[in-house]
Amino acid sequence: MSQELLIATRNKGKVREIKELLKGFDLKITSLDDYPDMPVIEEDGKTFTANAVKKAVTIALYTKKLTLGEDSGLEVKALQNQPGVYSARFAGEGATDHKNNAKLLRSLRGIPLKKRQARYRCFAALADGSKLIDVVQGSCSGLIALRPKGKNGFGYDPLFFIPCYDQTFGELDPDIKAQISHRAHALRKIKKSLLKYL
Ligand code: IMP
Repeated sequence: MSQELLIATRNKGKVREIKELLKGFDLKITSLDDYPDMPVIEEDGKTFTANAVKKAVTIALYTKKLTLGEDSGLEVKALQNQPGVYSARFAGEGATDHKNNAKLLRSLRGIPLKKRQARYRCFAALADGSKLIDVVQGSCSGLIALRPKGKNGFGYDPLFFIPCYDQTFGELDPDIKAQISHRAHALRKIKKSLLKYL
């Protein structure tokens, strides 16, 4: 029987991408949607690392499953790296992607495209029982577009413009996002730890 890997998130966009990135591993991948009784983990860390480790270790301790905690977000240079760890709730607690994107565009009003440098960051932590196995990171640079484009991906993807493809992540083929994204870079490193661990 395949070993289970529990992704400590309820974000469907993340789960979809992580499943795709770990394709080829003999793993049964589950998420917190398969464990409705798990507590909501407060993301109160000041860093992506702290939140990723908290998610992985808390859920691994509760479930005794091999668990992947992932914390990610967007850093915008002109906003002193905001929204950062607050990316999911930039426009307030429980904000929709649409509201977060609208706030981002408002915050950058009047700033030309070339000065809208940003990077997505992804931190992933792997834990089993009470043991933290590894913490890794990945990043992906781009510009914040002047208006949203495309319906692929999730979160800030319609605004995250990749100059060399002349497209936002919202427009870009998901297979290309799966090669160049912050999550792809982090998961490549997690795959190495999984190979050693399994
Ligand atoms: P958290 O890791 O649960 O705190 O949420 C991360 C937030 O960062 C998401 O809700 C999105 O707003 C944003 N984010 C992280 N990765 C991506 C991505 O690949 N595309 C778009 N938005 C992302």
